[in-house]
Amino acid sequence: MKSQSSRRRFLKFSLAGVIGMTLGGKTLMRPVQAADIPHLTEDDPQAAALKYVHKSPYEDRNCSNCVLLQGNKGDEWRPCQLFPGKLVSASGWCSAWAG
Ligand code: SF4
Repeated sequence: MKSQSSRRRFLKFSLAGVIGMTLGGKTLMRPVQAADIPHLTEDDPQAAALKYVHKSPYEDRNCSNCVLLQGNKGDEWRPCQLFPGKLVSASGWCSAWAG
């Protein structure tokens, strides 16, 4: 009798473990969403060094037409190769702008 009870308990904990790993894995495997990435601030030391601003002072130069901008066209905030881990404004600009 005791071994049947132990077996049942083992199976119960194993099942709970598999469910936990599956749900936990799903959470950990979730792709990074743009909403999870912080926006670059103008007073960030690297941004300030490159004179980054959220609104470009030029009519024809901004992040959305810079070759260093990444991400989805049309998104207001997108990744830039110069500022890994942060999003820049598509309307922004910095002194490294490259057309
Ligand atoms: S390099 Fe500068 S101008 Fe170009 S996308 Fe990045 S922040 Fe914008």
